[in-house]
Amino acid sequence: MSKRRATVVGTAKAARGRWTTGTLALGRYPDGPITTPVNIACGATDGPTLWVQAAIHGTETGGAMGLLKLFRRLDLASMRGTIVGIMAANPSAFRGYSRNTPFDGENMNRLFPGNAAGGHSRRQASVLMETACAVADAVMDLHSGGDQAVVPFYALYWDDRSEASKRSRELALATGAKDLWRSSDTWLEGTMLANATRRGIPSVIVECGGGGSLPESEVDIFADAIEGVARQMGIVPGPARRRKAPREMTRCLLVFNRKGGYFVPAVGVGAIVDKGTVIARIMDPHGRVIEQIRSPNGPAYLAALARPYLPVYSGAMVAECVKVVQP
Ligand SMILES: [Zn+2]
Repeated sequence: MSKRRATVVGTAKAARGRWTTGTLALGRYPDGPITTPVNIACGATDGPTLWVQAAIHGTETGGAMGLLKLFRRLDLASMRGTIVGIMAANPSAFRGYSRNTPFDGENMNRLFPGNAAGGHSRRQASVLMETACAVADAVMDLHSGGDQAVVPFYALYWDDRSEASKRSRELALATGAKDLWRSSDTWLEGTMLANATRRGIPSVIVECGGGGSLPESEVDIFADAIEGVARQMGIVPGPARRRKAPREMTRCLLVFNRKGGYFVPAVGVGAIVDKGTVIARIMDPHGRVIEQIRSPNGPAYLAALARPYLPVYSGAMVAECVKVVQP
């Protein structure tokens, strides 16, 4: 059952058979509104609404490029329903080319459902959350490793055994990702993903790429992932591209280095490692290896690694190791 049809997001209004644009204000600078650009693709026929947001971490622009690529190839005459594209879910982080909000240093994707009477990033999260929940039948949140990390292509959903969670799993499979992280990790409880799912709206995160580069192949992955979800929802015509036997992961352990230096990966992202496997080394400015970084669990999927030769301080978060439950 889809939500009411007249999708309005800030100044952007859906119009049958058209791609319309506008902005959504999430806060205010000293001299004016803090807005994200909004694109809305509306089919000629009524149907559900898919909310897709990119760049809640300001350096992660792959999802926004994927949205544009998909929007350019959509046949709106044959589409049933609406795709809302939020191009910069944390606008000041996007403008400042920063993962976190420049004003308060907050990671906005840990602050949901937000607080309309709280600090700056919490207020932004609240506006985004309430706006999405008013119009969305499903939510996609698009991420990458940005400029500091590299991640493989995988999908993530919030596993709270609710009906929305079960439907989230179907959407995650429809992204085409062969790796699926079903999360109930406490450090992700403040994500848009977890909170939209709790509010009964199926949600999925797609991760892909990073390392400060964006090859066209990764833009294609994002575009195809969004299209896959839109097909699963019946918005875009065509067969769903559901994955049959995904590799499944659960609980993620974050890995921090002890010593500062250059980060030198020993394995690639997406690799499966045993507990204790050396996944990276820290090299000092004289070329000496001063620390070996090992996987804290296993078999573990390397869902993120700091980018090669990133200069790191002690206690930087340099890897994510997600327990594999079904190889
Ligand atoms: Zn991110």
